[in-house]
Amino acid sequence: METHVLGFPRIGTNRELKKALESYWKGTSKKEDLFACENALKERHWWFQRDQGLSMVTVGDFSFYDQMLDTTCLLGMIPQRFQTVTDELELDRYFRMARGDAAANIPAMEMTKWFDSNYHYLVPEFTPGMTIRRSSDKLVRDTVHALSREFRAKPVLIGPLTYISLGMEYSGVDRWQYLDAIVDVYCSVLAELAPYCIWIQIDEPILCTDLPQQVRELFAPVYRKLKQAAGNAKLLLATYFGSLDENLTTALETGCDGLHLDLVRGRRQLDQVLDLLPATTILSAGLVDGRNIWKNNLRQSKEVIEQLTSRIGSDRIMVASSCSLLHVPVDLLQERRLAPGIKDRMAFAVQKCREVAVLAAIAEGEHEPLLRENDQLFSEQCNDTGILRREVRERAAAVNESMLTRTSPYPVRKQRQDAWLQLPLLPTTTIGSFPQTTTIRSIRNSYHKGTLAEAAYRSFIQSEIRSAVEQQERLGLDVLVHGESERNDMVEYFGQQLDGFCFMENGWVQSYGSRCVKPPVIYGDVARPAPMTVDWISYTQSLTAKPVKGMLTGPVTILNWSFVRNDLPRAEVCKQIALAIRDEVADLEKAGIGIIQVDEAALREGMPLRQKDAERYLRWAVDCFRLTVGGAADSTQIHTHMCYSKFNAIMPWIIEMDADVISIEASRSKMELLSAFRQYHYPNEIGPGIYDIHSPRVPEEEELVALIRLALQVIPPERLWINPDCGLKTRQWPETLASLRNLVTAAHQIRLEL
Ligand code: GLN
Ligand code: ZN
Repeated sequence: METHVLGFPRIGTNRELKKALESYWKGTSKKEDLFACENALKERHWWFQRDQGLSMVTVGDFSFYDQMLDTTCLLGMIPQRFQTVTDELELDRYFRMARGDAAANIPAMEMTKWFDSNYHYLVPEFTPGMTIRRSSDKLVRDTVHALSREFRAKPVLIGPLTYISLGMEYSGVDRWQYLDAIVDVYCSVLAELAPYCIWIQIDEPILCTDLPQQVRELFAPVYRKLKQAAGNAKLLLATYFGSLDENLTTALETGCDGLHLDLVRGRRQLDQVLDLLPATTILSAGLVDGRNIWKNNLRQSKEVIEQLTSRIGSDRIMVASSCSLLHVPVDLLQERRLAPGIKDRMAFAVQKCREVAVLAAIAEGEHEPLLRENDQLFSEQCNDTGILRREVRERAAAVNESMLTRTSPYPVRKQRQDAWLQLPLLPTTTIGSFPQTTTIRSIRNSYHKGTLAEAAYRSFIQSEIRSAVEQQERLGLDVLVHGESERNDMVEYFGQQLDGFCFMENGWVQSYGSRCVKPPVIYGDVARPAPMTVDWISYTQSLTAKPVKGMLTGPVTILNWSFVRNDLPRAEVCKQIALAIRDEVADLEKAGIGIIQVDEAALREGMPLRQKDAERYLRWAVDCFRLTVGGAADSTQIHTHMCYSKFNAIMPWIIEMDADVISIEASRSKMELLSAFRQYHYPNEIGPGIYDIHSPRVPEEEELVALIRLALQVIPPERLWINPDCGLKTRQWPETLASLRNLVTAAHQIRLEL
């Protein structure tokens, strides 16, 4: 049985890639250093895969920033604005596309979430009159590199139809006009790869989403060409993050030699697939969860393999991870502080490679003791009382509709809030965090390590808050924030203070580029032993006469950005978190805080990929948000924030959340998303971000004025807020101050016209 994973995390066991990238960007290291890091990581990851017993290693999953961006470069689809600067390294242009160029005033390419994960990719731009031509031989070079080290290489490409579907087109452009040219490039790559490999993996996760008929019809003709180009090399069509359902025949019509299924999230498709699978097609069974950190239930997987074997025979089966392991941390061996009872239940990327290999061996009758040990683990899990808390279960069961609803409807609340807030038209604010300087990080680190005393730490954070308040007052912002300097991460911070969570030391997962997150792990019932933010927020409010906005992370975001136990429905886990944050809202109110923001940055990314599954998710997700804020007084202004821009499909639900103010990301899409707010007559207040915080570029005042004018075409001035796209923690102070200064003056300028 062939065994493989769909991709390996590229960031490195100790985030070597992050460090190498950031020092290159800062100019403190040279391109040679970066390339050396690249080579070392690629080889190390191939070694991991082979050492754990996999029969093939994946090549082409490494990227300096993002695999979609690599594909854009492969196709030579460089947007015009990046072609103007000359005499430079190809690599620097690549980074400019990813990050923008402050000096040359060139905005970055848009970034958005990869399906329902927290990984971000760079959105391909389909512009008028593009010439598409093969512009990279990286994949071929990597494959040759792997072969030279005697690895059995399985190159991977993002499939052309997924690539095109995930792009955005400029007005007047039909992306599909470029299909033939794009397919030609793929053909040339495949033809070159063919002599070197047995299998070539082509990822088409788009097949696990609702597809327009027009796109579905393209698969057969496109893949006919790809197959021809690949000659003797076999194509493995990789689908993941869900079930193929009505796209199954489309997938089969590609005629690919192998079909990979995600059998973790798409178990429901198995019978249907087995009924229709052509007699010669190989099935790659994605049994080891690439989206979670829990150990595989080997007994259950073994049963699936047995079912497959009896239907199609063991020689037509590969064992695999469900999707790329990009979404899990690298190596559990790095964790030294996890409680043994919990650590024993976990598997990271390296361990998951091993699980894949072990499963194939188990299917052949080996590893009997391992299997029994695993059985034991899963039976203990069912009986463990340490993770079940009766009072939490009872409180969750008693939640009713009245707990989800504010006392009065928005118009009444608005009057009460306006009465005490007395804000000007177009009030200015920020989304919460300010730059997390190296000093802040190192002080927080020493505190958590125990080398800095509580009192010294508190006074440091207080001084950070004082200076944040001073800066905001000097800038003339209207609603102030404390700056989140005490928070390492918006989810981890809360998880650390809640029962039922535990933390990895080194469990980093790439979010975008060099940015990594270390998701908390929810292993047990969730409860809040004590207030979590009240001290810092009250302190902040004590420093200023302006209103301070308390800053909380919402339950859906905490859930979606954590690794969640898989022995309880997600909706139930979320409700437990909502109740805990609800208590925090009540305590902030009691402390006199009249504006509270509950961030739901990740509400949309938790959406199931299929329309038919979405409704159920949105119902419980929105209800959990409402449960969190439903107890707030009418005069308390509830804000929420969401980090993305595609709202059309969920607008009715956003309205149902009934936040008094919602801030969203809008600058990069030029306020385009506001059309959804207009179309649905969004009734409450909105702060469409006018400043792109993902790049260090300082937006000019005129640019901001223009964006505000665009927003005013859709939203009346009494319901419009002025703010950046998101929090500023990844920025530096100088650019932050310059940008916010422009933001405030832009708002002032427009106010004069109203
Ligand atoms: N309040 C958070 C911050 O400013 C929000 C971040 C987010 O939505 N991703 O950092
Ligand atoms: Zn955000």
